Amino acid sequence: MIALSGFSQLQDPETYFNYKKGEKFTPHHRLVDYVYHAADNSSLIQVMQYGMTNEDRPLLVAFISTEKNLNQLEDIRQNNLRIAGMSDGTSMAKNTALVWLSFSVHGNEAAGSESAPHVLYDLINPDNAESKKWLENTVIILDPSVNPDGYSRYTNWQRRMAGKHVISDFDDIEHHEPWPGGRTNHYLFDLNRDWAWQTQVESQQRMKVYTQWLPHVHADLHEMGHNNSYYFAPAARPYHEYITDWQADFQNTIGRNHARYFDAEGWLYFTKEVYDLFYPSYGDTYPIFSGAIGMTYEQGGSGRGGRAVKTRNGEELTLKDRIDHHMTTALSTVEVSSKNADRLVDEFRKFYNLGAIGKYKSYVIKKANNDAAAEALCDLLTKQGIKYGTVNTNRSSNGYSYQTGKNRFFNIENGDIIVSVNQAKSVLAQVLLDPESSLEDSLTYDITAWSLPYAYGLDAYALSSDIPHDASIEFGNQKKSSVRLTESYAYAIPASGLSSYSLTGKIIQAGITARTNEELVTFAGREYAPGTIFITRADNRSMGDELLQNLNEIIMTESVNVIPIESGFADKGKDLGSRGMRLVTVQKVLTIMGEGVSSNAFGQVRHFFDQVINHPITIIEKDRLGRIDLDKYTTLILPDGYYRLSSSEKVKIASWVSGGGKVIAIGGATKTFVDEDSFGLTSDVDGEKSKEEEVNKQADLAARYNHYSDRERKSISNYVPGAIVKLKMDPTHPLAFGLGDEYFSLRTSSTRYPHQTDVANVGIIESDPMIIGFMGSTIKDKLQNTMVFGVEEKGRGQIIYMVDNPLFRGFWYNGMKLFCNALFLVN
Ligand SMILES: [Zn+2]
Repeated sequence: MIALSGFSQLQDPETYFNYKKGEKFTPHHRLVDYVYHAADNSSLIQVMQYGMTNEDRPLLVAFISTEKNLNQLEDIRQNNLRIAGMSDGTSMAKNTALVWLSFSVHGNEAAGSESAPHVLYDLINPDNAESKKWLENTVIILDPSVNPDGYSRYTNWQRRMAGKHVISDFDDIEHHEPWPGGRTNHYLFDLNRDWAWQTQVESQQRMKVYTQWLPHVHADLHEMGHNNSYYFAPAARPYHEYITDWQADFQNTIGRNHARYFDAEGWLYFTKEVYDLFYPSYGDTYPIFSGAIGMTYEQGGSGRGGRAVKTRNGEELTLKDRIDHHMTTALSTVEVSSKNADRLVDEFRKFYNLGAIGKYKSYVIKKANNDAAAEALCDLLTKQGIKYGTVNTNRSSNGYSYQTGKNRFFNIENGDIIVSVNQAKSVLAQVLLDPESSLEDSLTYDITAWSLPYAYGLDAYALSSDIPHDASIEFGNQKKSSVRLTESYAYAIPASGLSSYSLTGKIIQAGITARTNEELVTFAGREYAPGTIFITRADNRSMGDELLQNLNEIIMTESVNVIPIESGFADKGKDLGSRGMRLVTVQKVLTIMGEGVSSNAFGQVRHFFDQVINHPITIIEKDRLGRIDLDKYTTLILPDGYYRLSSSEKVKIASWVSGGGKVIAIGGATKTFVDEDSFGLTSDVDGEKSKEEEVNKQADLAARYNHYSDRERKSISNYVPGAIVKLKMDPTHPLAFGLGDEYFSLRTSSTRYPHQTDVANVGIIESDPMIIGFMGSTIKDKLQNTMVFGVEEKGRGQIIYMVDNPLFRGFWYNGMKLFCNALFLVN
């Protein structure tokens, strides 16, 4: 080969990988190699590693544009932030379209990442004159693998199973990925549900770059079941009401451009169905609420596609087909964006000047005694680029109360947090903070309520006027404690946020004995709410001077206030030496995974222990539960799922609980205990069951004359896609400590039990409860007067029933507090 220029070594992916497009799945590290190879051999691409995954795989973006644009990449970025009003100064005249392409956020939807090197090559291929034209006014930010751990889990398995012959017969192992599949990341979180909450390292690191760039177009390349064709924009209804006309219209422009290519090739596709734009934490909606045209593209195939699969029409769908389709939409996205660059930038600018588009102009979040939760919320706002401030005066105001669902007068007090919609990120702020988002149609397939004050358990008000405030403060990024404790009679850790629990966990694991109060106590004029952790010198005599040393080492790791107490004599309530000050014991925690256990739910448990409270947890395959010596553990967590335990497993658990063990059963796992002789949970208190059967019968009778075309709607009357329900709590029960009389619970299932007689009803739904978001009309009735959180005392142990999963997607801060209570305080 004759070298024509310094970059003549650039190879296309087939040459580089030494196999044909779609012939094999490509290991992640080879994808990475190719991106660097391209950057080393082309002046049209720069690579940036923006992070690492839990399993230590690199996260990359490639910036692709003309050499000239790449030389002033930082100017282009700064300019775009100025256009958005996110940074000061006037913007340059020239408009550059910013197009972000995300491949395979769901790892086993691997055709996305498989297409990435081909898309990249087509954009920089010296022989492709057309793509060169696009690059003149466009910067492409290409993330070849948004979820490398999931992608690797799938492709490594695929490569192990793949034989010499490609077997398109669906029976073959190549099409049956084992539990938990490669869709999710290391912690089995769905990264396409995590954009707004940023609970996962992949999202945290990616969103930093995303927020610094704020692209004008974002395409998220997925796959769906293999019997489907191809889905692209425009999206299905419902749309969130804050999606602008321009954002909806331009989806059409893009879709028409894709259709041109698909029509020419004779490929099938569909638009305007299934994939709606409501839940704000997806790779289409989140970019939309950040000013972009956000889109999901879905190729038929996914984890079951293999290298080729027979589809229902008798044809064969190959990996190469899937790659070709994704390449086409990805390149068409760049083309149409380049051709409309001026319009895209203009509309992006307008979007960032929208201000109030909903009912409210500001939100007041009461900090009250909930500092840790308020700071955690502020932390999340900061990550989104949403500004907030505070006031240092007291005044009265009127607003919509999140707690009561009604307008009322209230006091704005010194230290309260104010978020005004008069800011660049106004739309995102409104989407995340509005008490309720309006749904133009109920047929959505994800949760329909997420308002942050509910998630963080904070009292808040939405106001139709703006509140003058000081925007210069910043909470969040809490500093670790630098205070050194000195010799004292005892120390108190008030139960505040999650870090106080994390600290508690570390203290008891270090062998330090701690106690907790079940009622309010006062020492030296200071009140300690139930659930405060007390460490006395007397309880830790054998530790001697090491107690102080150990405590000081541990508190340095968390940003928690530890208060010295000089006398055990309580001004009010029980003294420190009282029997009523219960011991907090070391938790040896066991949980199960595997077939039947919801992989997301198991992952949430694991993530919570690893990353939120930094506490060890032993994990076993569900099938081994019968053979495990439970006496080695204090606590068994049964994650949400579709499994039932065998009768011998139940007998074993019942006797272990009687001897002092604790079960935390979440969601579907509660069903294994209901109406069983050894357990108190029942589905039928006082004829509730027959009442419900009667309701069902009446509903069936009424539905006899429904039109066939209404069948989809009828099926949702029992449907709970995800809504917030207000619960009444028993604030005197340790499970509810620190949560108050009311708790807003995220409900995602129709599982329900009446108010119980042999189980303490700690959190219940009353008649006619406050519900935020969509819930089917039939199920709404059935959920009245049911129990959501209950504790059964059995012998010396407990079974904690959690019908709603407080760890759902890892973003319900108040739920995690409740879970901590179950872990540390209920015993
Ligand atoms: Zn997907």
